[in-house]
Amino acid sequence: MPGKNLSRDEAQQRASILGVDAYRVRLDVTSATDPAAATFRSTTTVAFRCTEPGASTFLDLLAAGVRAVTLNGRALDPATAFDGARVHLDGLAAENVLVVDADCAYSRTGEGLHRFTDPVDGETYLYTHYEPADARRVFATFEQPDLKAPFTFTVTAPAAWNVWSNAPHENVTEDGAARTWEFAPTRPISTYLTAVVAGPYHVARDHYSRTLADGTVLEIPLSAMCRRSLAPSFDADEILGVTKLGLDFFHEQFDYPYPFGKYDQAFVPEYNIGAMENPGCVTFREEFVFRSRVTDAAYEGRANVILHEMAHMWFGDLVTMRWWDDLWLKESFADFMGSYGLVGARTRYSGAWVTFANQRKAWAYRQDQFPTTHPITADIRDLEDAKLNFDGITYAKGASVLKQLVAYAGSEAFFEGARRYFKRHAFGNTELGDLLDILEETSGRDLKSWAAAWLQTAGVNALTPEVTVDAEGRITELAIHQDGEVLRPHRIAVGLYDRDADGALVRTRRIELDVTEARTVVAEATGLARPALVLLNDDDLTYCKIRFDAESLETLRAGLGDIEDDLARALAWSAVWNLTRDALMPARDYIALVLRFAGQEANIGVLQSLHSQAKSAVDLYADPAWRGEGGRLLADGALRELRAAAPGSDHQLAWARFLAQTANGSEHLGLVRGLLAGTARIDGLEVDQELRWALWLALAAAGQASDEELAEELATDNTASGRRQHTQCLAARPTPEAKAAAWSAVIDSDELPNALVEANIAGFALPGHRDLTSLYAAPYFKLLERIWADRTIEIAMRIVGGFFPQAQVSEATLAEADGWLAGHPDAAPALRRLVLERRDDLARALRAQACDRA
Ligand SMILES: [Zn+2]
Repeated sequence: MPGKNLSRDEAQQRASILGVDAYRVRLDVTSATDPAAATFRSTTTVAFRCTEPGASTFLDLLAAGVRAVTLNGRALDPATAFDGARVHLDGLAAENVLVVDADCAYSRTGEGLHRFTDPVDGETYLYTHYEPADARRVFATFEQPDLKAPFTFTVTAPAAWNVWSNAPHENVTEDGAARTWEFAPTRPISTYLTAVVAGPYHVARDHYSRTLADGTVLEIPLSAMCRRSLAPSFDADEILGVTKLGLDFFHEQFDYPYPFGKYDQAFVPEYNIGAMENPGCVTFREEFVFRSRVTDAAYEGRANVILHEMAHMWFGDLVTMRWWDDLWLKESFADFMGSYGLVGARTRYSGAWVTFANQRKAWAYRQDQFPTTHPITADIRDLEDAKLNFDGITYAKGASVLKQLVAYAGSEAFFEGARRYFKRHAFGNTELGDLLDILEETSGRDLKSWAAAWLQTAGVNALTPEVTVDAEGRITELAIHQDGEVLRPHRIAVGLYDRDADGALVRTRRIELDVTEARTVVAEATGLARPALVLLNDDDLTYCKIRFDAESLETLRAGLGDIEDDLARALAWSAVWNLTRDALMPARDYIALVLRFAGQEANIGVLQSLHSQAKSAVDLYADPAWRGEGGRLLADGALRELRAAAPGSDHQLAWARFLAQTANGSEHLGLVRGLLAGTARIDGLEVDQELRWALWLALAAAGQASDEELAEELATDNTASGRRQHTQCLAARPTPEAKAAAWSAVIDSDELPNALVEANIAGFALPGHRDLTSLYAAPYFKLLERIWADRTIEIAMRIVGGFFPQAQVSEATLAEADGWLAGHPDAAPALRRLVLERRDDLARALRAQACDRA
């Protein structure tokens, strides 16, 4: 499709001559409840100025058809003006009014206006999702973040529905079976931030008010929505409680009144990402409405996302990046604010920085070691680049570097900088330099070299301690080695740990210093007694991989779980995982650490990441000759800890889920079946619906669930979630036919919604089924370009990433991947990036297996 992939150059050119005064968008979605209706009517009126009268330009529009285009009262022929992706305009006046009357398609991929019908009650639900560039699937738009404008939406929908948008509605009129909702104009916002949510959603309402410094009272109506059939599980009080704490906190920190009037939060079905910060109308994945028991880590994760999106109301919505190069200006900040806010706003999730250190940073380390890594401020040539940049660098590394900036420049300079940034650039667009200028004002420091080292270069440094001692066991020198292509200034704390009287490993000394060179001596440590453990980057101030000296590593092998402090222990876990991934610690040694100490891990989020990492270690990093034994050890460990866990605890649930993931022998699978049948019980463990599906997946993957049994389970849980999990179970059956069916459902048709594409891939690609799926490696590489050309980018990304033969860890698969890369130098850069990353995972797994074998 010509022009579908808007380039930065085109966007800059357009912004250089255009200014947009207003959009008026009318949508008629009364057809949504008719499954046969594929499209809805979309009429856009745009008022815009042009500084070069006579010039040409274009709008972006991905529509099924265009009925009419009128520029300044002059009708244009849609057949020539519209090419399927753009509406071309010639002979612009200084002031223009354009009207585009189009038919746009309901989406099944989560991009644009997504339509979902609830299997429970047959009700239909709609919502929009646009970032980075899918507003053009719903109305004609200048699809780039720096052409901001006020938007006025009018939506005609079935009469029984409610409709929300960024602004509150001003008027609702009823006409037979339809109601028309007229919304107030928004403040100037970017196209990707506009939103419509429509359907018979269940809604909970509340209110927030705050007296501002000047004595005026800010009133913010609050609401939270979900599908009706989820209402019994909807804990809106908890959600709105976190929301109010967050509004208090960000008003205190940012000193800029919330600028978008009301604050709605919609939990929507088949959502592709965690959430989206549409001003005044945030959308979340509805899996955040917990219909079965989840651990507190899930509640913490949801609260983090609520605060992340709320921070965007300022970082991103009020002040927006000019182009996607500076996506970090909103995502790194929001990611940082998610954890910072959980602690600062006095929510009950006081361990948020532990989660950040252990889980969020793991994402950053992984991404930053791919050959495709990039500086935090990226070079984004076009929309496909932009789509792939919602990654571990832009979010987690960026947030880690902001945490380091707070340590380096001070939190007062950082937040005073934020306050000035909002006031100076409200409703505008910014680049890196705009932020640095302000931070230099408030910190009094030259941040150009800091930014060059941290924001404009890629890669992660490793910090390694070198300890020399004298005959009495006193430190003669503690030096820190910094490795990496670029050496950076790290403000870090060094923790010295020893056993206390009860045997716990506790910090006896904390030394804070700047590490700037390849080798830095910690002068303050000289003369101290050699501790049992030297922990670099204690308190997790900087972004780096930490290594250990030999004696400290021995201490960890003997007593990692005895480290008393949650954050220090999480850092140690993270470090030994990095050693495993870097082929410096055999996978079986890492698994032994997990088996030995995970049972005493108090932090539930850390425990759950240990589970997934241990599973990966067996599946990918262990010597294949030992893999079977490693898998049995994990399953035995899961069963042992499940029986030992406190009845009714989060830990018990986490171990039950881990047992479901690892079960392989007859003892484990027998218990799984017994739990499902009710013939076996674990005291305090409630086998609720989501746990049932996890147990069925274990049986299905082992070939021990019949189609009739799975159909029966679906009949008792014929919900959106039930259908997804049933699909995953079918794809997880260990037969050639089941794999062929899952593959074909995804590859041979584009009828499946995003959620079922994902479920099929997840079931198909179980690592334990590597023998069954090996014959799909060759067709995968043959299909790549066609998939990339034919599918929407969201679905193409899932297929390319999910069907890559990741479990086929062999030189032969590596050669196949290399062959494709060598043979397709001109494939779309975003497609090559995805393949390069999966290929790199494979090469890493081969190195780790060699280490484990040695
Ligand atoms: Zn975000």
